[in-house]
Amino acid sequence: AVVVRCDYDFFYFVQQWPGSYCDTSQGCCYPTTGKPASDFGIHGLWPNNDDGSYPSNCDPNNPFDPSQIQDLLSSLQAEWPSLSCPSSDGTSFWTHEWDKHGTCSESVLDEHDYFAAALALKSQANLLQALENAGINPNGSFYALSDIDNAIEQATGNKNYGYVSCNTDDYGNGQLYQVYICVDHSGQNFINCPTNGVTDQNCPSSVEFPSF
Ligand code: 5GP
Ligand code: 5GP
Ligand code: 5GP
Repeated sequence: AVVVRCDYDFFYFVQQWPGSYCDTSQGCCYPTTGKPASDFGIHGLWPNNDDGSYPSNCDPNNPFDPSQIQDLLSSLQAEWPSLSCPSSDGTSFWTHEWDKHGTCSESVLDEHDYFAAALALKSQANLLQALENAGINPNGSFYALSDIDNAIEQATGNKNYGYVSCNTDDYGNGQLYQVYICVDHSGQNFINCPTNGVTDQNCPSSVEFPSF
């Protein structure tokens, strides 16, 4: 068998704002299970190296197995919905994330633990609440990128928590799209990112937070 060496130093825990995924020119499709709540959704938990590189598709012999996450299904549908087209129940998104990223940390988190860890991190961060506590609401208003950063700093307890990325809506406005938060090797604790030099990506100094 082919042995792929897959080591990593930490994780990026990545969440996406559905309003920003959907209001681009590409649009989106609601899941077959219905429109998700107006909340951040999980994109993935990605093993990463301190030097910025990352492993992917580490173990073709351990493909996504839906039977291992049966007990997490309703939580995953709510917290890790897929908004790509055509509509799906999320299984294809979770399959992609496990096969590409999850298999690279399988010696630390097996499939069930990997998805459970991501769900736990989402509630631990409670990102939308942290932003709203700082007066940053998803209503189409614009907010200083520095205020968004400060709110996420509060939520994670880390100054160098990670970064946010922005995309562009139909009118050309830069908007809050994804939040990358650094997590330790165990997949359980927020940490200051070991990587230097990764800064907020594609974000203007004033960022739209669209409704969903
Ligand atoms: P994008 O080009 O949209 O930033 O990233 C495309 C895909 O590449 C992501 O969905 C993710 O699978 C992978 N990727 C991008 N940046 C990183 C990173 O810094 N670390 C890891 N582990 N994967 C990444
Ligand atoms: P990455 O390779 O960037 O980790 O994962 C992105 C892949 O997952 C893309 O192929 C994308 O089409 C698929 N995907 C399915 N649903 C979603 C979704 O809701 N958000 C994002 N960003 N990608 C999704
Ligand atoms: P993936 O290959 O990786 O499908 O997606 C490639 C890129 O297109 C990713 O940045 C993903 O977020 C985006 N994308 C894929 N499908 C959709 C979609 O249905 N709607 C939107 N808005 N973006 C999508």
